[in-house]
Amino acid sequence: DTTLVWFRRDLRSYDHAALYEALTRARRVHCAFIFDREILDPLQERGLVADRRVHFIHRSLVELDAELRRRGGGLIVRYGYARTEIPALAAELGADTVFVNHDYEPAATSRDADVAAALAADGRQLLSFKDGVIFEKSELLTGAGKPYSVFTPYKNAWMRAILAVADPVNAHPSLQAYLSPVDDARLAPAPQGMPSLEDMGFVPAPLTELGIEPGMSGAQALLEGFLDRIADYDVARNFPSRPGTSHMSVHLRFGTVSVRALVRRALEAMHNGTGGSGAAVWLSELIWRDFYFMILHHHPHVAERAFKPEYDRIAWESGQQAEDRFDAWCRGATGYPLVDAAMRQLNETGFMHNRLRMVTASFLIKDLGIDYRWGERYFAERLNDFDLAANNGGWQWAASSGCDAQPYFRIFNPVTQSERFDPDGSFIRRWLPQLSRLSARDIHAPWLAPQTRLREAGIVLGANYPEPVVMHDEARERTQQRYLVIRKTA
Ligand code: FAD
Repeated sequence: DTTLVWFRRDLRSYDHAALYEALTRARRVHCAFIFDREILDPLQERGLVADRRVHFIHRSLVELDAELRRRGGGLIVRYGYARTEIPALAAELGADTVFVNHDYEPAATSRDADVAAALAADGRQLLSFKDGVIFEKSELLTGAGKPYSVFTPYKNAWMRAILAVADPVNAHPSLQAYLSPVDDARLAPAPQGMPSLEDMGFVPAPLTELGIEPGMSGAQALLEGFLDRIADYDVARNFPSRPGTSHMSVHLRFGTVSVRALVRRALEAMHNGTGGSGAAVWLSELIWRDFYFMILHHHPHVAERAFKPEYDRIAWESGQQAEDRFDAWCRGATGYPLVDAAMRQLNETGFMHNRLRMVTASFLIKDLGIDYRWGERYFAERLNDFDLAANNGGWQWAASSGCDAQPYFRIFNPVTQSERFDPDGSFIRRWLPQLSRLSARDIHAPWLAPQTRLREAGIVLGANYPEPVVMHDEARERTQQRYLVIRKTA
């Protein structure tokens, strides 16, 4: 009995549900990863610099392969369409079962259904397991047996379920690591003559220069560093110029870290006092992540439309002016320094701080009046940690169209946000060096500064830094009007 473990967004060799199940049940276990053209081709056609993510995957696979080889196995890699490559590979290897971990995105569930059907037609099967979240699908339901749509009661239910076990870190079934049970002799090396990772000639990206270390080792180092600071997370996380957050998102995205391990570490820090007031808040962020996967599972329409249908009636700005303003937002040229600095951070590194994701999303939707889906798509193309569930959740939150979203009449003021969360302007100065000589007083809204001070700082608005594309107060009025359609039709 031979099996195949198909790695997707779970690029690690330890605490891996599908790998564990395969090793437990079969005598010969092959491991494979497909560079899926269904995902890569559209990015290439649009000329996108997607190589940061592809390179992250590639380097993580090199480490995964080395680890599997150390244990007597190895990784088979292919470039093609997973829908056909996996059934073909299973047939080639004589694998009767393909093991995977659940992927909750609509495109992935459709792909997996096709793969399962193709395998079944050939007398084989696809078996899928929960791995990337703590609770999934309908594991947590309201008293009325319905999926949650508001975060706080969901979080309370999540915590109750964990704390229902006396010693959750060591005994809760959803938190236990899948420790490889059996002898590694079951791991099969990659057959001779198959393409190797070196044959996958992707353009390297400067990940190390960006401070991003892929793979299980990269995740581990990052985690240990963060745990030293976790006690301050609740405060430090709000300031983009400080190293407040964990930066684990890209590792969670590609599964180079186990979410169970992260939750255990957070609970331990809460329990033994090293977590201060930060660990519980950080755990809460990991619960948001579970929450949005659950929402996507129960409401796959959110990938295309508003969670709340009445918000589909909103008339967003369109035409050349909207296109131009969107373009200014993308390039970081709106004239609002915090928004522009954030967009440059995204464009140059593939990361954006959470506070700034909220600020830039709100600005696009509620200051520029642009359809949240334009911004959602732009983030999807650029974020190293892009994840449909969390990205969509974040965008619909900002658009007020999501579950448990920001009320539509509450609109972020981009200048006030800048003054509160980048008070001395150091984040802005880092990404917009042309503004670096402006004082902390002027840097948040240069158009309000007197000409003399602008001249002294070397700024000519409209020449070396843009005039604001819209005035916030006017935009706010228009947005209030635009959103009235919800009240009238609700
Ligand atoms: P930390 O603050 O250290 O949080 C720890 C982990 O918790 C994160 O790595 C992430 O996995 C999870 N998490 C934190 N906040 C959220 C959240 N609001 N929703 C879901 N999970 C969360 N996160 C993504 O992983 N991928 C995305 O594509 C994404 N798009 C977003 C778009 C918008 C408009 C907004 C407002 C938020 C988005 N987020 C997304 C959530 C959040 O901004 C990032 O997870 C976070 O900034 C990643 O940095 P970190 O790892 O240092 O986070």
